[in-house]
Amino acid sequence: FTARELAAVRADFPLLGRTVRGGRPLVYLDSAATSQKPNVVLEAEVDFYEQRNAAVHRGAHQVAEEATEAFEQARDAVAAFVGADPGEIVWTSGATAAINLVTYALSNASLGRGGAGAERLRLVPGDEIVVTEAEHHANLVPWQELCARTGAVLRWIGVDDDGRLDVDALDRVVTDRTRVIAFGHVSNVTGAIAPVETFVAAARRVGALTVLDACQSVPHLPVDLHALGVDYAAFSAHKMVGPTGVGALYGRRELLEAMPPVTTGGSMVEVVTMDATTYAPPPQRFEAGTQMVAQAVGMGVAAQWLGELGMDKVAAHETEIAAELLKIADVPGVRVIGPTDLRDRIAVVSFVVDGVHAHDVGQVLDDRGVAVRVGHHCAQPLHRRFGVAATARASASVYTSVEDVVAFREALEGVRTFFGVD
Ligand code: PMP
Repeated sequence: FTARELAAVRADFPLLGRTVRGGRPLVYLDSAATSQKPNVVLEAEVDFYEQRNAAVHRGAHQVAEEATEAFEQARDAVAAFVGADPGEIVWTSGATAAINLVTYALSNASLGRGGAGAERLRLVPGDEIVVTEAEHHANLVPWQELCARTGAVLRWIGVDDDGRLDVDALDRVVTDRTRVIAFGHVSNVTGAIAPVETFVAAARRVGALTVLDACQSVPHLPVDLHALGVDYAAFSAHKMVGPTGVGALYGRRELLEAMPPVTTGGSMVEVVTMDATTYAPPPQRFEAGTQMVAQAVGMGVAAQWLGELGMDKVAAHETEIAAELLKIADVPGVRVIGPTDLRDRIAVVSFVVDGVHAHDVGQVLDDRGVAVRVGHHCAQPLHRRFGVAATARASASVYTSVEDVVAFREALEGVRTFFGVD
């Protein structure tokens, strides 16, 4: 971005203009947890409630028609943004719900449910599911639970000292019993980008399904799910300048067709008698009950807004921010966890400060108006791998400026002095 373009982007985000801690300008470096929202997204939700609010897919009246149109246009926008067909996008409450949807659909398939082609989704005891040590709990615990329900066995590949996935281990860990490989596109701790094509190739060799946690990639990189060739992907609106309470599951059309439903009830059926029910085709089959329509509309606008900015440009801007963030490695006592090569990562930088607990680091930064996240970031195994219980994490988004990072670095320079470690 030019300075002018970035200023225009920032001016669109009302929250960035507020102050904290007695009048300090807010330096928001917690976008990996959740991003801020531009006016267009906020206005889209208000406009929906003011002008188009009605139940979708049922009403016979004009407002219901307009609500349905807005809801489906949002699906089109999200699909176009990630290189998918609209029929392959299922609304969920977020990435966590999307991954759980897949795991419960696989267990229902394992109980014999599902349409033609559902054999591919059935697990039997001794089948294997492969994940990585870098996963967010949202892409780990649901697989552990699926294993507990089906008798499948969880296997995993590790990470190296730089936080890069040990993909060479796929040759050993992926076997002809592997039925699913679930992995994150970008780590929410190290910022490392996974080589998706290597995982997809390993899965194809043995006929396994691939499930991509795209939570931290979709907001920051151009993502084309058809080109990546994954079977499923999950992402959340709230990390991509959209509203909370909505996200999406992408599934390849024929897999969604074969998948049994998980949540059942209204709006996902064709014919219901007292004895039996037939289900609607996807995506409606997976959207039981009244949906989060206003939020979906907001997510569509967020996708469109990012798409119009251009994800190549967004990624280039954030690479510049990542380079600035990584300079904290020169601050005495600071150790960055994750790859240093900018081609391998995004602008999510976790770090420890020798002799100071991450929570204390967070507090000192907060006193200076700098918002970072501290803790295990829902990735306890990865923190265990690095021998730390907690890290502090600074993370950027499309609106993050070099000035934000400079303010952060200056605040960080004071941390060890503050605690008398130096
Ligand atoms: N995966 C990753 C990599 C994430 O960063 C997050 C959010 N921290 C999730 C999954 C879960 O997303 P949500 O909480 O929006 O469901």
